[in-house]
Amino acid sequence: MTRRTLIAGNWKMNMRAESAAALAKGIVDAVGNTPPVDVAVCPPSVYLAPVADVVAGSSVGLGAQNLYPESDGAFTGEVNAAMLTDIGCRYCILGHSERRQLMGETDKDVSTKLHAALAGNLIPIVCVGETLEQRESGTTEDVIAKQIEGSLAGLDEARAAGIVIAYEPVWAIGTGKTASKEQAEEVHVFIRGLLTKQFGGEVAEQIRIQYGGSVKPGNAAELLAQPNIDGALVGGASLKVDDFVAIINAS
Ligand code: PEP
Repeated sequence: MTRRTLIAGNWKMNMRAESAAALAKGIVDAVGNTPPVDVAVCPPSVYLAPVADVVAGSSVGLGAQNLYPESDGAFTGEVNAAMLTDIGCRYCILGHSERRQLMGETDKDVSTKLHAALAGNLIPIVCVGETLEQRESGTTEDVIAKQIEGSLAGLDEARAAGIVIAYEPVWAIGTGKTASKEQAEEVHVFIRGLLTKQFGGEVAEQIRIQYGGSVKPGNAAELLAQPNIDGALVGGASLKVDDFVAIINAS
């Protein structure tokens, strides 16, 4: 089974209108019309619309960093899946560790958002990952299993194949510390095993599992060469055209 690599840039809460458009344009120009991998950029919500204009008609997909899992209504400050697809989003990051830690998002919240994303025709990128303390106490697999089970609760086989999982060890995000290729592949294999139990081997083989955590031009190739690493969710290095394009080219 060949899974198409997905390289996605999580711009987090960075950029301004002008720099966001310039970054998107630089990526569109560098990537060309037929890249051998899927590429996406995930700007802050206020810059989704202007970036959508820049990437329209190109091979660069647009993703949001979050959604609110309700239909239109009295939810001040929130944005739902229908709005995101309306302005051209294809992907939505869900359950990023920063949201889990800073905004108290739970696995139950993530699963509710996952269903809202799928109902709105978005491809969810579901983030899971252990903290340093959890890794050092030997509970990585327990933590990941709980996150996968909770975040994917109620998901049926028919829809599971189209989702994306991002394994992002919390201790590697924005720290400059990357999981070694062996550490990352080990957890990706474990995640695919969980997906096999939940959805069967055929579906599990189709689900893309990205790695995220200080991916850079210098470490991307060895990570992306692992059999179960199907792409990267890139934070800091996605803010510079050259770095992000070098990561795309490393895959
Ligand atoms: C992320 O935020 O998803 C991430 C992986 O960040 P960084 O690449 O900066 O570690």
